[in-house]
Amino acid sequence: MADRRPMWENLGMDLEAHDQLCAVLPVAFGDIYLSQENRPENMAFYDMVVADIHGIRPQELLDAQADGRKVFGTFCVYVPDEVIIAADGIVTGLCGGSQFWVPEGEKVLPKSMCPLIKASVGARLGRTCPYFRVADMYIGETTCDGKKKAWEILGEDVPMHVMDMPQMKRPRDHEKWVGEIEDLAGVVEETTGNEITPESLSEAIRIVNEKRRALSRIYEARKSKTIPISGKDALLVVQIAFFDDPERCAQMADKLADELEQRIADGVSVFPEGTKRIMITGTPMAIPNWKMHHLVETSGGAVVCEESCTGTRYFEHQVDNSADTLPEQYKALADRYLNINCACFTPNETRIEDIIRLAKEYDVDGVIDVHLKFCTLYDTESESVQDALKKAGIPVLALETDYDDSDAEQLRTRIEAFLEVLD
Ligand code: SF4
Ligand code: SF4
Repeated sequence: MADRRPMWENLGMDLEAHDQLCAVLPVAFGDIYLSQENRPENMAFYDMVVADIHGIRPQELLDAQADGRKVFGTFCVYVPDEVIIAADGIVTGLCGGSQFWVPEGEKVLPKSMCPLIKASVGARLGRTCPYFRVADMYIGETTCDGKKKAWEILGEDVPMHVMDMPQMKRPRDHEKWVGEIEDLAGVVEETTGNEITPESLSEAIRIVNEKRRALSRIYEARKSKTIPISGKDALLVVQIAFFDDPERCAQMADKLADELEQRIADGVSVFPEGTKRIMITGTPMAIPNWKMHHLVETSGGAVVCEESCTGTRYFEHQVDNSADTLPEQYKALADRYLNINCACFTPNETRIEDIIRLAKEYDVDGVIDVHLKFCTLYDTESESVQDALKKAGIPVLALETDYDDSDAEQLRTRIEAFLEVLD
């Protein structure tokens, strides 16, 4: 593997602290991922990405910057990548998924804030993540209160544009979101120096739709009675999709989907027959947060679907690419993006409808509703989710978790008991 230290040094990273992170990640990945048996061969690409996660892609981003391109860091699936790609910008997801970054975040944020936000701020301020260093500009959004305040802090350290999310989905909120997308386009044009044209936006819509289509194929395969891929592996594919090149992402996802479809035809499953099929719903699981999937799949269950932003919310629904003027295209983008159902919206019945629909489509035996500690939005919405699932006759277990592992054994006991009940 290439020596990445000069690159990290040039990015102003804290190499000593970063060494500590580099020491723990491969061990965790080995224990959680490489210990699995009978994995699809095409997971080798994703293993390779993780093995050099702070090397290959950051170097690609730096090379692109050297060619005059700009990199935009995003934190939420409502931010339309298409607008950035249309101006020849590059998008990289920045959500922090490791406990490693939390203490640094807690230096400037209250402890009673969700670990995803604390880790995201800690990764930047602690200078231990190259993606947070490479990005020329961050695009925030006003989804939850914690994030709003975090943008103010990050905005002191890095150029930041914040998109003002509507909190409801009425026609006037829709119009407002179109305006926010137009504003983003203006900021992106100014930062990149490139004009967005109907042609470039149409091409960007095509590229991102292709990525969604390819990821959907993997999920489609997970609906089969023969489960051709573990939930952990499927989660990893989506986590990496957030920062990979979108065209390569689609290409690799298609290859994996081909293999999964062949496995189904050949009756190759990664779980014994009768393994309980579980859907996970709730807060996103940013890389390297693999905890809940690992607990379920080492307790006798199989995760077959995630109703989350690191799951179906990321790739469901295509953008209508039939429009040929920018105003109509921005409207088409707003249509697709406002179809995502995050708990930051009120009312949010459509998310509950999605959960019931997905539970049926993936033929699940039970649902685990997971929220990160201090995420009041998903915690509050959990009541309605549980009620609706119970009414639909679908067993549900609600769990709260943090990034550290102190609750792992307690969670395992509850998951095992839930799986036993399903039997
Ligand atoms: S859970 Fe909500 S705020 Fe978080 S990434 Fe998803 S849409 Fe954005
Ligand atoms: S998990 Fe909840 S509190 Fe944390 S960033 Fe997402 S919506 Fe906000």
